Amino acid sequence: RAKAAGGNRFERADPEADARAITRHGLTTALPAALDRGEFFIEYQPLVHLDDGSVHGAEALVRWCHPQHGVLGPDRFIPLAEHTGLIVPLGRWVLQEAARQARFWNRNHADGGPLRINVNLSPTQLHHPNLVADTVDVLERSGLDPGALCLEVTESALIGADEDLLKPLRQLAEMGVDIALDDFGTGYSNLANLRRLPVSVLKLDRSFTQSMQQHPVDPVDLKIVEGIVSLAHSLELTVTVEGVETGAQAEQLRELGCDTAQGWYYARPGAPDRIHSLVLADAV
Ligand code: C2E
Ligand code: MG
Ligand code: MG
Ligand code: MG
Repeated sequence: RAKAAGGNRFERADPEADARAITRHGLTTALPAALDRGEFFIEYQPLVHLDDGSVHGAEALVRWCHPQHGVLGPDRFIPLAEHTGLIVPLGRWVLQEAARQARFWNRNHADGGPLRINVNLSPTQLHHPNLVADTVDVLERSGLDPGALCLEVTESALIGADEDLLKPLRQLAEMGVDIALDDFGTGYSNLANLRRLPVSVLKLDRSFTQSMQQHPVDPVDLKIVEGIVSLAHSLELTVTVEGVETGAQAEQLRELGCDTAQGWYYARPGAPDRIHSLVLADAV
């Protein structure tokens, strides 16, 4: 790497890049069979209310238990699945599995109000003509209340979105499904554009949370988050913050008016029964 940086930029032989390309190719071709063989699994990360730390729901995060490479995170294979179109059946599987799981949690303890389940959608899924029909099918089969489902789409996937793209999201929103704008603040955040989108949740990107870790926190950063939160609230959006790693960040973001949070400070993504025990612990 050091050699590559300091040496001849036009050096062609790059064994590391070759190895990465080979792995990418291997992973891409292995994806369809992996889905058939059930090599994917979901970890759940709790979403908590910032005011009292109670569990509000969980985000479903897919992983691949690869027979040779071990457990791979979504950043390693979602782009490949997105590229080949396998993201459609994979995404459908994630939605079905996460909905089933959420229904199971809620069947067993609905005391504190139903737990919400957040599922990520990639741009290809968003453009797929069966998005609404597939989601309706999953809700019917799992018995999950539409109001307990939140679909996360990234801000960048909605940039320049026309009515054709927004229509399915509007239909889902009308059914009671929440749409969240994920990684908000990383793209060309067009605040005025927010009004037009059928979203009910804003997920502030981890970079904002990280800026709350400075000592002292940059007053400009504080103003920016404060401004986003107040705009979001005036549009009746809920504000979730990602990547909360310390109590100080949680406290700062709570003071700034954020509603819910997610991060290692509360819990890392984990097995579904962990969510169960966290909620039960809450209830006592
Ligand atoms: P995301 O939706 O923004 O998910 C949050 C990511 O932040 C997750 O990474 C999570 O493990 C990580 N994270 C949570 N708390 C903390 C923290 O306190 N500190 C730090 N440093 N990181 C934290 P993960 O699981 O690797 O997922 C990466 C991305 O992959 C997700 O970003 C999402 O865009 C995508 N993804 C995950 N599952 C799916 C899926 O089922 N379908 C699609 N289309 N995309 C998915
Ligand atoms: Mg997400
Ligand atoms: Mg996110
Ligand atoms: Mg993110």
